[in-house]
Order: sequence, then structure tokens, then C-alpha cells
Amino acid sequence: MKIINNYEGSSIDVISIKDNIANLSLRKEAGQYEHYYNFKVINDSTKTAFIYLENIEKTPYFRNEVQRPYINKAGVWQLIDNKHFTYENGKIMITIEPQKEIEISLYPRYTVSDLDKYLSTLPKNKNLKIENINNTGFKKIIIGDMNLPLVVVIGRQHPAEVYSSYFIEAMINSLLENKEPLSKYCFVFYPIVNVLGVNNGNHRYTNNIDYNRIWNRSGLVFEIDYIKNDIMSSNLAYFIDVHGDEVSKINYVRTNYKLNYSSIGSMQVLKDPSKFRRLSRALIKQRKLINLKDKTAREYISDLKKCRSILVELSLKDTIESAYDNGSKLVKSL
Ligand SMILES: [Zn+2]
Repeated sequence: MKIINNYEGSSIDVISIKDNIANLSLRKEAGQYEHYYNFKVINDSTKTAFIYLENIEKTPYFRNEVQRPYINKAGVWQLIDNKHFTYENGKIMITIEPQKEIEISLYPRYTVSDLDKYLSTLPKNKNLKIENINNTGFKKIIIGDMNLPLVVVIGRQHPAEVYSSYFIEAMINSLLENKEPLSKYCFVFYPIVNVLGVNNGNHRYTNNIDYNRIWNRSGLVFEIDYIKNDIMSSNLAYFIDVHGDEVSKINYVRTNYKLNYSSIGSMQVLKDPSKFRRLSRALIKQRKLINLKDKTAREYISDLKKCRSILVELSLKDTIESAYDNGSKLVKSL
């Protein structure tokens, strides 16, 4: 049996492999066990393989119940079934039938290559421009007339929050199908902000940095400096930051302005929390203290540009389909 963990978006540590039994552990980042994991198993033997995955309860996002991982079957992600998955004493056990090769992932894997693959399927369109900034894999997608007020959309500041990528794909698709919003706004997407983290299979941090807590600082993250510079002199109408939420069972948005809807698609519209609420939320959700001087993307940009801002939080317990649906509905609500 072989465990493969050296490709884009993979993340697992191998403790031991003996015969048909493999002991694996979540990786660590910023001193904690990552929540996300992804690896491939090649069971080339004639016996069933047993994969044990340790330290599941030690991630900051573990709650009472374990989340079942996805497996990739011929390019389609689906939740693993109960026949091949059990959870006991803090360990996941996955069985792999003989002569089977399988990719296992806490959330569907979506890397820069997947974004490129998606972008390559888009029809040639005079409204659409795709830039590969400094050939770093950091992509900027412009849809519409740059003379109009901008709607800037960013995603994947936190690498494992993959549903934001499907959400952004749906936003792009819906703009290419229905051009009406393009008469009011020009849309600029940065679908994957944390290029390094996404390719490394990180969960939240890259080089111990939480990208969404350093927007008031410069010189730390190339992509963030680039976006800040790019937005500086623009006429910015909306700034939209798309995330995934590991713990919440509902999809929701937060806005810094009054919205007339109580929901968009299956996303509930919630008020921005006070600083105190944010502090206690971080303590509960991520089990850490945050420094309130550190600014999130939305705080930094909306203070600077006095624009409307939207935080999208997609429940990572929900489905890809739901993320798509909510992405196109958000476009329609602007
Ligand atoms: Zn996030």
C-alpha cells in the first residue's frame, strides 16, 4: 500500500505503514493540528487496507461529531459511505478495497490548477480578462468595463475554505450569462488569495500568518499588498470576501450596510458583530485570542474606501451545489 501526499493541495503525515495498515496523522500548522487533510491511497495488494487517521479531536474546529471526508470517484467528489468509514476513540478508520486507488479529502480539493482548468473552459468574451500576476499563479479576473464602479471579490484567504471557490465560479458564470449587472458595475475577482497555502494543503495559516488578520500591515503577503494597491485609487462600490465556516451549520453573510433581505439564497443575512463578539467568537471557534488592532480585509478596505462590504461564510458542512447556488444568487442581489 502507498500513501501519496506530495501533490498540490495534499496534506497528511505518515506515521507508519505495515502490510495493509497505515497510521496517519493530521499535519500541524501554527502550532496546532490542521483541520483539513487530503491524501491518496494506492492499495496494490489483494487484501483490504485499513487507514487510521489520528489527532482528529485536537484541531481547533473539532466539535462533538466528526465530519465525514469526501472521496474522489472519477473526478466527482462525494461523501464517503458508512461501509468504508468509522470513527472511534478519536481516530478515523477508512477501509480501501484490494486493487483500488482513492483520494480522500476532508473537503473537496480545489487548487490553482482547478481554477486554471475552470478558467480554460470559459468562452472567449470581450467583457472577460484573465491576468496571471507576475506568473505567480495569483489570478485576477476582470469582467466588465473598468470605468464603472468596481465590485471586488476575494476568496481563499484561508486555504481550506474550498466552497468559496465554487461560489466564485458561480458568480463568474452568472455574470457571463446575464450581463445586466455589468451595466452598473465592473467585477474584479481574486479567486485564490492564498496561493502558497492552497498549494501546500494548509488549513488556515501560511508561514504562521492568518491572511485575514494582517490587512493593516504591508510587506508580509505579496497578494494582499497587490490587492490593496490595486484598489487604492479605484471607485469601489462593493468589497466581497468569501469564506467557509467549519463549525456553522448555516450559510450566512454579514454586511456593513442595511440590506433589505433577511436571506440571499440559503444564506442568512446577519449583522456585523461588535468587537467584543468577534473576540469571544474567535475564542470559541478557533480557540485563540485575537488582537483587535489586526484588521481583516473587510475592516481595512471598508475603512479606507468607505464602500459597502460583504462577508460570505459558507458552511463547510453544506454541499458544493449549495455554494454554486448561493454564488449566483448573490450576484442577482447586488
Ligand atoms: Zn475564512
